[in-house]
Amino acid sequence: MTSNAAVFAADYKNSPYWWEAAPRPRLAESSLPAQADVAVIGSGYTGLCAAIETARGGRGTVVLDAEDAGWGCSTRNGGQVSTSFKPSFEELAALHGAERAFAILKEGHTALDWIDRFIAAEKIECGFARVGRFHAAHNPAQYEALSRRLQNQPKGLEVECHMVPRGEQRSELGSDVYFGGAVFARHASLDPALYHQGLLDRAISSGAAIHPRTPVSAIDGAPGSFRLTTPRGTVQAREVIVATNGYTGGLTPWLRRRVIPIGSYIIATEPLAPELMQRLIPKNRVVSDTRKLVYYYRASPDRRRILFGGRVAFKETDPKVSAPRLHQELARLFPELKDTKVSHSWMGFVAYTFDTMPHIGRRDGLHYAMGYCGSGVSLASYFGMRLGRQVLGLKDGATPLDGLGFPGRPYYWGNPWFLAPAIRYYRWHDQQNK
Ligand SMILES: Cc1cc2nc3c(=O)[nH]c(=O)nc-3n(C[C@H](O)[C@H](O)[C@H](O)COP(=O)(O)OP(=O)(O)OC[C@H]3O[C@@H](n4cnc5c(N)ncnc54)[C@H](O)[C@@H]3O)c2cc1C
Repeated sequence: MTSNAAVFAADYKNSPYWWEAAPRPRLAESSLPAQADVAVIGSGYTGLCAAIETARGGRGTVVLDAEDAGWGCSTRNGGQVSTSFKPSFEELAALHGAERAFAILKEGHTALDWIDRFIAAEKIECGFARVGRFHAAHNPAQYEALSRRLQNQPKGLEVECHMVPRGEQRSELGSDVYFGGAVFARHASLDPALYHQGLLDRAISSGAAIHPRTPVSAIDGAPGSFRLTTPRGTVQAREVIVATNGYTGGLTPWLRRRVIPIGSYIIATEPLAPELMQRLIPKNRVVSDTRKLVYYYRASPDRRRILFGGRVAFKETDPKVSAPRLHQELARLFPELKDTKVSHSWMGFVAYTFDTMPHIGRRDGLHYAMGYCGSGVSLASYFGMRLGRQVLGLKDGATPLDGLGFPGRPYYWGNPWFLAPAIRYYRWHDQQNK
């Protein structure tokens, strides 16, 4: 077996591969405005898509981020774009009735189509393409379950898909480890940091003022007259949008009790030979698997590297520690990559929720959208846009998620003490019937 140190390339970086093509933006320093119509906390997809709406709607908009613009998940993710909701129609119908379940799941389809149209309309060059997804079954029972699920899709919510048996798997993936899988033809990929850069440019050109390295430490007041405290001064704002997702902290304790920050980890490989890439990911699809602790991967936009992500540690750890573990799994799936080195390793905090649903709404006068459960490229953008329209008082800000209760749990204040045992259980679960 390769030793831990041997997996790192000579030019290894402990930072996102995406930041090579889209380095963290250096924005011109400007003083914090004393007043704004709308203050947005968080400069990821949610915050920027909301800010684009409010700024274009004529509201003086200021976006504040504790770190560089887009420093959170929005420039760290896998760039896989799907219909996104985790619960099934049956699960949602049992909780909210069939009609609302239908409307909620339809929203996932709408979000995917919306981001496609939005990127085209805004001419954001981020390589968005409907490459399709290969969703691989990690055991025969999962293959059967996937096949049943696709044969019994709820009417009106059907997606374009087909099963690929194990014998034909090599047409999709250069691995024999899986037991076949399903292709979801409409799923897409993009470069997440170039997409973020495009949003940032559109937000600025729409008139929003972006203030990086401006952590908000307190919010006082009420709608019409909020006061946000930062180390660079205070901002008085009529409306506040909280767009902090997996980085939601003590600033908003009610929200913090409702989102579970979970680290997701990714590596990039050093460049591969074109013929090898053609064998491993011949159709350039994004890939995921049926495990509870899912692995997700794809080729880089230039098809030279594999970007391979997943959850490999019980507790949060340094990307330098997670890299050899991800590499080990990569080499298990693709033995041809056992000597391929890792050029980048990084992580970010996604936000899970107790009902595995995203949430959009208003609490104590603060608007929020968050909790995308690891699938936020389309959802964060789409709900950010809707939230911006809600702040403008527009009818089409409405979503079927409005008014959905945002559940917390007793004895949970924002530190997921149950994560290690839960991951231990899921790992055991995934290893059954391997
Ligand atoms: C490794 C990884 C892989 C992923 N892969 C995928 C994928 O392939 N497909 C997919 O759909 N989704 C994926 N996701 C999830 C997706 O990236 C997120 O759901 C989405 O980016 C969330 O966007 P956001 O704007 O809500 O939050 P973020 O982009 O995380 O932004 C939140 C921002 O809030 C700021 N902030 C927090 N507190 C404060 C404060 N007090 N004051 C000021 N600013 C503050 C933070 O600094 C941060 O920049 C992945 C996530 C990770 C980490």
